[in-house]
Amino acid sequence: MSAVNLLDFDLDGLAAFCEQLGEKRFRATQLFRWIHQRGASDFDQMSDLAKSLRAKLAGQADIRGLPIISEHVSSDGTVKWLFDVGAGNAVETVFIPEDDRGTLCVSSQAGCAVGCRFCSTGHQGFSRNLSTGEILAQLWHAEHALRARLQTSDRVISNVVMMGMGEPLQNYGALVPALRVMLDDHGYGLSRRRVTVSTSGVVPMIDRLRDDCPVALAVSLHASNDALRDELVPINRKYPIDELLDACVRYLDKAPRDFVTFEYCMLDGVNDSDEHARQLLNLVRGRISCKFNLIPFNPFPASGLRRSSSARVQAFAKILVDGGIVTTVRKTRGDDIDAACGQLAGEVQDRTHVRERMTRGPIPIRPA
Ligand code: SF4
Repeated sequence: MSAVNLLDFDLDGLAAFCEQLGEKRFRATQLFRWIHQRGASDFDQMSDLAKSLRAKLAGQADIRGLPIISEHVSSDGTVKWLFDVGAGNAVETVFIPEDDRGTLCVSSQAGCAVGCRFCSTGHQGFSRNLSTGEILAQLWHAEHALRARLQTSDRVISNVVMMGMGEPLQNYGALVPALRVMLDDHGYGLSRRRVTVSTSGVVPMIDRLRDDCPVALAVSLHASNDALRDELVPINRKYPIDELLDACVRYLDKAPRDFVTFEYCMLDGVNDSDEHARQLLNLVRGRISCKFNLIPFNPFPASGLRRSSSARVQAFAKILVDGGIVTTVRKTRGDDIDAACGQLAGEVQDRTHVRERMTRGPIPIRPA
């Protein structure tokens, strides 16, 4: 029988597991703190746990991170890890340092079934859902590797965005326990406002998330009308814009922030005209408290799409801002290591390339 990976549990799950071993809940809490707050992976390190418990754990459980295929550090401090999730699949995790925060972009699936036109992960297709442990292993590794690199015992990651590979709300059962560990004061202790789930618009699961574990919500909108969104974000054919916006309004009842962020990837000649901006205003004004985040498209050959010019992005943003909507333009980060969204699948898609790297060993880390 294979060992139970303790990264798969939120605190309640770990308490239930410890109970099976005849241990009280406070022991589970100690164990949980060792794993997530101190990054321990060896039971022998856990000096305040009874030797008898450590022996029981060693026989039945382990703390298993993901094998690292590569780690790249950009000149702007962005760090990208490529993790091996088996069977030729890999997922990416990206750390983005800023003056007042450190954000980790986490993957929820290997590949993605939604198939957005402008997303290289979508072009790759869907391989499988990640487990709770595989989602958390990204945060667990990143937090403790960064602390070691920066020689600090203080928390480095202050924000998590579920914006890596995959549609998190199509992996709901694994996502929610992972979110609970991120929020747990005995785990990573992140505020609900600083944990964001980004969805392409899986309406019924937006409602479930509101009830089960409300965190900040970002929605990949990318189009100002249903005909265009049907093409760019195919899940729109199932959950059209009106239904999606209604779900967002309901979500705000319990959300930790009083607005929803709409992500909008700017595609030259496709969704970036003044008319599109005006349509967006008509959709949201007076209906939902929201912010727009305009994202420069990262071209990849199979997409057949181009990035909007910065002048076009600025003109588009001005129409939204003049209409009273807070609008930001996402800075591109880590360009020298291909860390930007939409490029996450690039190396995974070319599996031969990934395998080649795996056999060659890790790529040397470039200094920041
Ligand atoms: S943008 Fe998100 S939901 Fe759409 S295909 Fe890419 S990973 Fe999936």
